[in-house]
Amino acid sequence: MELLTQPKNYDVCISISALVLMAVIVVIYSSEEYYHGKQSRIFGVLIAVGTLLNVMGLIHHLWINNEEVKNYITYDMNCLIVIVEKILTYLVGFFSIVYLMAIFRITPNKLWKKLLVIVPSVYTILVIMSGTFTDAICRFDYKGEIILAFPYNHTVNIGIIMYLIFASYLIAKYNKVLTSEKMVAISAYYILMLMGIGMRFFTKTGVVFEFGVAISLLLCVFTFQNPSHFVDRMSGVGTKNALNFAVYTNLIQRRMFTLMEIRVDKLSGTIGNEAVEAASSLLKQMADYLKKLCPEAGVFFPRDGFFALLIPDVKSSSDVIDKLADTIKTRFKEPFKLKDLDVTFDISTSAIGYPDDVKTIERFDEISNMMYKALSRESKYVLRVADLNLRYAEYDKKIGNLVRHAVDNGLLEVYYQPIYSPSTGKFSSCEALVRLKDTRAGYISPGVFMPIAERNGTVLGIDKFVLSSVCEMLATTKAVSYGLEYVEVNLSVVDCIQTNLAETILGIMKRYNIGPSRINLEITETWEKDVTSVIEQNISKLMSEGLTFSMDDFGMGYSNFSRLADMPVKIFKLDKSTIQAAFESETSYMIMYNMIKIIKGLGKEIVAEGVETGEQAKQIIRLGCDHIQGFFYARPMPLKQFLEFLQDHNYS
Ligand code: C2E
Ligand code: CA
Ligand code: CA
Repeated sequence: MELLTQPKNYDVCISISALVLMAVIVVIYSSEEYYHGKQSRIFGVLIAVGTLLNVMGLIHHLWINNEEVKNYITYDMNCLIVIVEKILTYLVGFFSIVYLMAIFRITPNKLWKKLLVIVPSVYTILVIMSGTFTDAICRFDYKGEIILAFPYNHTVNIGIIMYLIFASYLIAKYNKVLTSEKMVAISAYYILMLMGIGMRFFTKTGVVFEFGVAISLLLCVFTFQNPSHFVDRMSGVGTKNALNFAVYTNLIQRRMFTLMEIRVDKLSGTIGNEAVEAASSLLKQMADYLKKLCPEAGVFFPRDGFFALLIPDVKSSSDVIDKLADTIKTRFKEPFKLKDLDVTFDISTSAIGYPDDVKTIERFDEISNMMYKALSRESKYVLRVADLNLRYAEYDKKIGNLVRHAVDNGLLEVYYQPIYSPSTGKFSSCEALVRLKDTRAGYISPGVFMPIAERNGTVLGIDKFVLSSVCEMLATTKAVSYGLEYVEVNLSVVDCIQTNLAETILGIMKRYNIGPSRINLEITETWEKDVTSVIEQNISKLMSEGLTFSMDDFGMGYSNFSRLADMPVKIFKLDKSTIQAAFESETSYMIMYNMIKIIKGLGKEIVAEGVETGEQAKQIIRLGCDHIQGFFYARPMPLKQFLEFLQDHNYS
């Protein structure tokens, strides 16, 4: 006890704390499986060196501060321990730089580069070791502390300073590939080292440095060695983070590579309902196969249903890639085991590489997103960057710019399409539809620009503008007194995933003092496919305020009839393709007929969209649709014309 309470023993206390930290690090390190092979091995060595350094430091401090210890450890043994401690100090510096290089996958290819890393440490270690033989280089004072003779006392630190400079250079160069928490960790690592060295200079004790090493390694174990960040638990291979990191470091170092993404058809669907062990075992079989097939490549599982191979030194255009895709395809057609079932899969692949396809990180991100989308749509043997319709992408960009320009410069306008209600014979609602008139490009259809606006986020601004215009119209015109009961306003999926959607909408309505029954929000079925709790929260919050919802484009694509009853909507809008098809074939008519019956049976209202002829209108009315929208009654029109329309038709 006395040992720990005496101020002169504080060094010992700090040494013990550092050792405890090292023990924690060893436990974390050895309890996890690691993905980064080389990096983790070096980290293991670094831990070992750091632990040994702390053990030596502890013994040395005990020896200095405690007379009893001197009974067990002789003066000469202490000197030896100090020499080992010193050497380990410089080895920490050496392995830190090697570790940093491993993180960034830098392998010094030329001899002089290798020497540049090794020589400073070798020199320092030789100087310190030679002190055992000759007092001219270093000697020990009566307290058992090492004293380096001039000029060695200065030269031994040159190596450490070089390492620090080199490390700063690497961190600056690679800062783009690091997330901010990693940047903090790695900078803290070197700042702690630097402080430790400074403290040693002034206090003549290495204990702060040793403690600093322990703290720094702890930071690293949680950031750079953090397995869940880098290793996918299910497949045991690299995550998207790991893949990005690997690609980015390759790009910065200008090392040739090809990234091959492998889409495994229906993989997510197949394992989606399986127990974790079964799913994980299937993914591991696939990962193991890929690792074995291509040992020099990195294997990743970056997103659901996709594997990726990062293949060094191969061009994306080469035959090697084609053959590889071939081999993998053939193998996936043969069975994998899913519990006691045999399952086979179809795959499609894509290839992107440096230097042919991408040269910068930004370009890589852009192209890889496009490839991912293209790969999800098309099934091709090997989809190459050249297969992407880059012209289409340029077009996307141009329209995107036009939309931004329009939003910023007030070139948007809201049109209104009246909706007819047969039971009253009046146009008691309408749909607000946005129009974009560009000064140079002329009129651009929302069918063209809305998908792009959804991708670049401008849709949020557009929809706020539309809702504000609608509220302003309701508040300032005579529309309501002309019989308009409510307005249908479109929401995009992007709107629906904003956590503040409800506040935004309610805020706008409040500003114009518009009651909830005046607005009905249209959502599309896609929201239901990737339902998230945010969307559900938004919908229930708005519903609790009295707003209602329509399911737009119903009958198109993903209709899920079994979930129909649970959908929190008041109105179903039958998509115009359903309506139009119904008047072209008997079966389509039966489909529409039964859809209407089911929806009515659930007590919901129906809007039939895209009714273009009087004949269609008559039939639809007979089937009992509550509302009809279509060119037969009216096209979308500007506000002024819309008000005239209401006045003319609702009061004649
Ligand atoms: P939507 O929500 O399904 O809107 C109905 C579309 O059908 C409108 O096209 C309308 O002009 C058209 N339409 C109406 N009656 C008929 C008909 O009898 N025959 C035919 N062939 N078409 C008819 P529009 O205005 O070009 O809008 C296209 C899509 O753009 C909309 O489809 C909607 O998804 C989106 N959109 C339009 N305005 C907005 C908006 O303010 N916000 C959001 N998020 N999306 C909007
Ligand atoms: Ca709509
Ligand atoms: Ca629609």
